[in-house]
Amino acid sequence: MAFASLATNTTEAFVTLATNDDYSLGALVLGYSLREATTSKKLHCMITEQVTTPVREQLQRVYDDVSIVDVLASNDEANLALIGRPDLALAFTKLNCWRLTQYSKAVFLDADTLVLRNTYRALLHKATTEGSFDGADQGLLNSFFSGWREASSAFRLSFIYNVTGGIFYTYAAAYKKLRDQVKIVHFIGTQKPWRGGVGIQMPEFAQIWHRIYERHVAGTVPGSSGTGSQD
Ligand code: UDP
Ligand code: MN
Repeated sequence: MAFASLATNTTEAFVTLATNDDYSLGALVLGYSLREATTSKKLHCMITEQVTTPVREQLQRVYDDVSIVDVLASNDEANLALIGRPDLALAFTKLNCWRLTQYSKAVFLDADTLVLRNTYRALLHKATTEGSFDGADQGLLNSFFSGWREASSAFRLSFIYNVTGGIFYTYAAAYKKLRDQVKIVHFIGTQKPWRGGVGIQMPEFAQIWHRIYERHVAGTVPGSSGTGSQD
């Protein structure tokens, strides 16, 4: 009978990570964006001890489960300095996702992503990783799944599942054509929507991020106003 329970483990989830209150603002907006996209899957946010109590309470309002994980650091300051992202030292912590064995499938989304449309089916059939060898998590994942580049295209996601500012810049024509199909926006780099400031990448999508923020997050946690909303 002990094995029978394994067969019933069919719960599937979207998972994110926030190691501090700053990234938690991103995780909150991501969670609400998934709710607004009417996901039928569980939402799970991994946090570390650093996240403060009022912020944890807000995360619990939108995520089905908020679990505390240990920090995994890459200890590779040299390479992170090379790519100009010392802030990514903790990004290895997302590998804790593989320990969430209560789910039969889990899709990890960075806290700086925004879901615009229901993405679930294609994501689970095609989810894989991308990036470069860089001292952060992407480098590690790429070496582990080193066959992905040669694997069939069924293992890759279309660009509409990870739309970044750089891609828009390089592929303006593709953006124009696919803008209305974009499913997941990813605000990569040090400038995040919740940090405000000028020159925010992809202003059109940053505005959607800010609208969700204003609807659900602003004023609910200490310091959660004044992110430079462009509305
Ligand atoms: N992250 C975190 N705390 C940190 C750095 C990263 O929680 O100090 C998590 C968060 O989910 C974030 C992801 O790791 O979205 C990857 O970092 P980031 O999005 O800043 O990298 P980028 O997409 O800009 O390369
Ligand atoms: Mn990111």
